Amino acid sequence: MNLQGHDRQKPHRVSLGIALLLCACLALTIAFVPTVGTLPQPAPNTGPVFGAAGSTGNEGEAAGQQSGTNWLAYWGGLRIFGRATRMRLRSSLVSDLLSSPGVANWAVPGTVISNLDTAADSPYGAGEKVVALTFDDGPSPIYTPQVLAVLVADHALASFEIIGEYGALYSAILRQEVAEGMVLVSHTWSHVDLNTIPTAALPVQLDQTDLLLQNVTGHPVRCLRPPGGRTDAAVLAELGQRGLAELYWDIDPSDYLKPPASVITQRVLSALHPGAIVIFHDGGGDRSQTVAALPSIISGIRARGYQIVPVCEG
Ligand SMILES: [Zn+2]
Repeated sequence: MNLQGHDRQKPHRVSLGIALLLCACLALTIAFVPTVGTLPQPAPNTGPVFGAAGSTGNEGEAAGQQSGTNWLAYWGGLRIFGRATRMRLRSSLVSDLLSSPGVANWAVPGTVISNLDTAADSPYGAGEKVVALTFDDGPSPIYTPQVLAVLVADHALASFEIIGEYGALYSAILRQEVAEGMVLVSHTWSHVDLNTIPTAALPVQLDQTDLLLQNVTGHPVRCLRPPGGRTDAAVLAELGQRGLAELYWDIDPSDYLKPPASVITQRVLSALHPGAIVIFHDGGGDRSQTVAALPSIISGIRARGYQIVPVCEG
């Protein structure tokens, strides 16, 4: 009889449970919708177009394309960002790596780093099988967390070339990158051609970006990657005066043109050589193929006996 009595009460308890659950869902919806609605939106198409005529290549997209983001994409980005946040627990391992000997700052201001082995004051010897992965034009609220999740899962450290105005909008992503041991490199405030802008614009393009990144990392910025690769001796001198080295590259899979992931992987692995610095893009457009290519690129690099190392750290 007791059992029957217990069974009779059960539907009431279930109903009560469902009612409580519905109330909780309603409360969460009310609390969450305004939060999502006020997420910072990237600036509209007011920025410079990357890869303009006369470019030396490599920079593909208008940064403003990020403004085409829709609600679903935002939800996806938030979900992935949450996953990346959980991975922060692993960052103690990364901290150990960064604090170990041999990974201190070695970037020499006013010099160009286009290969790890041959750069001035490089800690790597000639022919040493090391490779640096670098990601330009972020942070993107959609793709940067995805890139970061792959790197963290595969225990690979990389350098992110930050556009200042996006870094200011998505500073939480910058903090996440640093927490995971990644390196922040300047990519100017609004992705300008450094060899054509007036000198008066340099404090905003260079110093303001450095200040933003320094506030996140706690140390001076070591390097700048010139947007579009457009640079000259005067630019290099300006960087040198600010304590910056110029971070270039010597492998470009042209991922900004959005080839299939398999093509991006093949281009990187077929061009692999000691000291290589590979340029990718995590911002400025649809980077899903770059994200998809990353695991096979990382495993392929290691299968060939190379070590993946950050550049411009310290
Ligand atoms: Zn760029």
